[in-house]
Amino acid sequence: PSLGGALLTTSGLTKSFRGFTAVNGVDLQVREGSVHALVGPNGAGKTTLFNLLTGFLAPSSGTVTLAGQDVTGLPPEKMAHLGVARSFQITSLFDQLTATEHLELALQSSTGQGLKFWRSDVLMGRFADRSAELLEEVGLSDQAHEPAGALAYGRKRALELAIALALEPRLLLLDEPTAGMGIEDVSRTIELVRRVAVGRTVVFVDHNMHVVGSLADQVTVLQQGRVLAEGPYDAVRTDPRVITAYLGE
Ligand code: ADP
Repeated sequence: PSLGGALLTTSGLTKSFRGFTAVNGVDLQVREGSVHALVGPNGAGKTTLFNLLTGFLAPSSGTVTLAGQDVTGLPPEKMAHLGVARSFQITSLFDQLTATEHLELALQSSTGQGLKFWRSDVLMGRFADRSAELLEEVGLSDQAHEPAGALAYGRKRALELAIALALEPRLLLLDEPTAGMGIEDVSRTIELVRRVAVGRTVVFVDHNMHVVGSLADQVTVLQQGRVLAEGPYDAVRTDPRVITAYLGE
């Protein structure tokens, strides 16, 4: 795919917890239109970096820039408003609401009107088409009216992805999209992320190297809070420093 300039940039990004530096001077460039993987051994700082990019943590030092705008330290709602959407690893769905209802709720809240018209038929109708489109996009059309609590784990993750897409994000962050999945759901998820990545910019964390190799244009390898290597998957995979870091796990 043709990649544009940097959509998201970090410079010297650092996060310390009581003297322990989990993310240490990270310079990251996520190009517009790319699928960018963050990988590294356990404790490398992937989750902390992810939280810094989405505003769930404020950095100790360094900057985060989104499309040329300094967004350092902005809270998650503000980041969401600027087009940064995150799908959660821990499921945050309401068991009793259907897939469609989740999306109508997400679409409505993305209009900034809050929930006061939640039961209005007019508004329900207004979001029905877009909601159906999003469910189609993630392969959930058949289960549109099932309560989320009745969906299989992989389908719940697909619904969460659809909810993130409802925000029309310019940057989509996926926290371990295949975590806890069996081989079949992993394959489905790879296909799904490939599809939704078209025309979007995606950053994801995943432990599964098959997933990383199947999806990522660019890979950043972290070790002990620092960038150990970066580049296309094949170059990074064969980098001796990366091999050593993983053997040490
Ligand atoms: P990864 O996601 O790559 O496994 P993390 O970002 O979760 O790594 O953690 C990096 C390091 O920072 C770990 O050593 C972890 O114990 C530490 N860490 C993460 N969050 C906190 C916190 N809130 N307080 C103290 N230490 C933390």
